[in-house]
Amino acid sequence: MSELANLQSLDSKHFIHPFTDHNALAKAKTRVISKASGIYIYQQDDQPILDGMSGLWCCNLGYGRTEIADAVSSQLAQLPFYNSFFQCSHAPAIELSQRLAEVAPAQLNTVFYTNSGSEANDTMIRFAHRYWDLKGKPNKKTIISRHNGYHGSTIAGASLGGMSFMHDQFKGVDYIEHIDQPYWFGEANGQEESTFGLQVAQQLEQKILELGIDNVAAFIAEPIQGAGGVIIPPASYWPEIQRICDHYEILLVADEVICGFGRLGTMFASEYFNIKPDFICFAKAVTNGYQPLGGVLISDRVADVIKDAGNDFAHGFTYSGHPASCAAAIATLDILKNEDIINKVNTDIGPYFQSRWQQLGEHPLIGEARSIGMLGAIELVADKNNSTRFANGIAGPTCRDQCVKVGLVMRAVGDTMVVAPPLVMTHTEVDELFNKAWQALDLTAAALAK
Ligand code: PMP
Repeated sequence: MSELANLQSLDSKHFIHPFTDHNALAKAKTRVISKASGIYIYQQDDQPILDGMSGLWCCNLGYGRTEIADAVSSQLAQLPFYNSFFQCSHAPAIELSQRLAEVAPAQLNTVFYTNSGSEANDTMIRFAHRYWDLKGKPNKKTIISRHNGYHGSTIAGASLGGMSFMHDQFKGVDYIEHIDQPYWFGEANGQEESTFGLQVAQQLEQKILELGIDNVAAFIAEPIQGAGGVIIPPASYWPEIQRICDHYEILLVADEVICGFGRLGTMFASEYFNIKPDFICFAKAVTNGYQPLGGVLISDRVADVIKDAGNDFAHGFTYSGHPASCAAAIATLDILKNEDIINKVNTDIGPYFQSRWQQLGEHPLIGEARSIGMLGAIELVADKNNSTRFANGIAGPTCRDQCVKVGLVMRAVGDTMVVAPPLVMTHTEVDELFNKAWQALDLTAAALAK
């Protein structure tokens, strides 16, 4: 048995994968990724595959970043672990907190660390509930979120999320309510874009009034929905959401697990949309995916109340602010700054990527191509003239498989194909992404025609 075949067999026997149909996996055999460099991943000694998803929306600065690996290694040698409970701390967590406060929107100056985006969102709920208790409004417990949003896979994270296929598999928490998503291509039913954006935003107001202002703690949303299909809201959406949150004094939560750290050409998407959240939940690209780290940036008005409570905030994880993860994050922030990456996304590679991505809209299989910063989505349709979908949901998975054949990772969300490529691509690499995507679409059209 070859080494690869042996790994695949052991994988099938002993490893339950996240979000995976294991019968299908056993038939297809798992792709064993053995190395990565720049913007490419490699299966054993095969051809390079252009990683259009930056790992899982996280390796924004690409692979082979020895600066981050070295920072982690020297931190592990000096202080591999110490906790931040019981009046203790350590330099990497302190330095990172200061650095994050420096780059975050002005009102956010404190941070609580977790190990993941899911835990960041769970933690946000702990803060929101505690805040309203301390403000003497203990009934303010409901969190409003959106259908088809993604906020992680812990019980609370998956409850916050609006993925019905996840809700079908567990019993969620009972204080979360969902409103519609601002998915203009998929759900506007002919409404004009700006009107549609206002109408879905105003569902927040209706929901607050229906539940009673005194029962609502917060509204959470991804500035751009990632896992739901790179859904870019109409320009009218976010200003209206901000107005409603201000008017009813509801805490606004930006889940920036995907959008943070330069993805839109701003450090945080909250700047891009000019919103003023009380919490920014982050993870993933904060360490360029090199170490597990997440957290919540907290507004001064919330942090002050929590700090002044006079007793413990009874929440924390063993690895909150793990020294090696914090060291990786500091090295990541250094690269973002030293290589001027966010500015380049904003003025150079972002616009170039978007202009090429929009050209995919000319392909006969594509009903819409949309992009923002370094995020892109294309909608696969059976009839380009009226955007009719394929009947059986087969187009997305078919396209994903054709992408791998031509050496490209693109993700399928139903029949929407999405990419979140590394922020550090060159123009030539963007051209390669475009050419491979077009080739995969041709192959997909041929396969679907059979
Ligand atoms: N929020 C958003 C917006 C995400 O995209 C994700 C992960 N894709 C999460 C939360 C959960 O993060 P994690 O997988 O690190 O728990």
